[in-house]
Amino acid sequence: MDKILLVTGASRGIGAATSVLAARQGWSVVVNFNARGDEAQALVQRIVDEGGRAMALQADVSQETQVMAMFDQIDRQWGRLSGLVNNAGVVDVAARLDQMSWQRWRRMFDVNVLGSLLCAREAVRRMSTRGGGAGGAIVNVSSAAARLGSPAQYLDYAAAKGAVDTMTVGLAKEVAAEGIRVNAVRPGLIETDIHASGGQPDRVRDLAHQVPMLRGGQAQEVAQAIVWLLSEEASYTTMALIDVSGGR
Ligand code: NAP
Repeated sequence: MDKILLVTGASRGIGAATSVLAARQGWSVVVNFNARGDEAQALVQRIVDEGGRAMALQADVSQETQVMAMFDQIDRQWGRLSGLVNNAGVVDVAARLDQMSWQRWRRMFDVNVLGSLLCAREAVRRMSTRGGGAGGAIVNVSSAAARLGSPAQYLDYAAAKGAVDTMTVGLAKEVAAEGIRVNAVRPGLIETDIHASGGQPDRVRDLAHQVPMLRGGQAQEVAQAIVWLLSEEASYTTMALIDVSGGR
């Protein structure tokens, strides 16, 4: 039977690296994207060229109707999924709390928290043995920021990732007896476009000296942990928050 995996925010960065690696492990991968359809299609082509199975689906994870439509399409085209990686995430420019706008906070929590809750809800509805599903695995992509707090940078983002950690713990316990494992990875400073989105393209290089391993990480290094958590090799691992942060 096909193992179907949805990776949100997979057009680039950690989501793209996870999709490639998961496809190599035999997952049929749904590459979700928000705006960058061309990059998502190119990734699908790369996976297919390697002999894997993938399709790209657009949905803004913070929009319930779009997420519901995406899950419905997966059901119709491929069947029930057994893997979800809640990876889509956003940061904003560095700022103090007293300089942040309401609109910024809404986006931060809508995408990072509500998007993850929403996709997890739809995945549980399909995976839970309570509803006739065959079980599955959910991996939430949190951040070391949840531990560090990110003062004068983006503590709203850090707080949102803290919520993702708490959701991981609660959901892991809630569905453990229904065949679903729920875990999170907490990346540290990883070389992706997200830092440029936050107005700091050189952030990894500038802060690498604060990392005990004295370097930033690669998306691939985070993907390895995610794909392991999805796999049967992690069959007794649930509720884990795995730091992939070079010791930071
Ligand atoms: P990235 O390179 O900026 O990529 C972000 C991805 O998320 C893109 O594929 C983007 O899609 C997608 N996305 C953004 N908003 C979305 C939405 N509303 N709906 C659906 N997709 C959306 O980021 P990254 O560094 O790979 O980060 C991936 C995850 O790791 C995030 O959750 C992030 O918070 C976390 N993380 C990253 C680091 C790091 O240092 N890089 C550290 C800790 C945690 P489009 O391309 O279509 O816009």
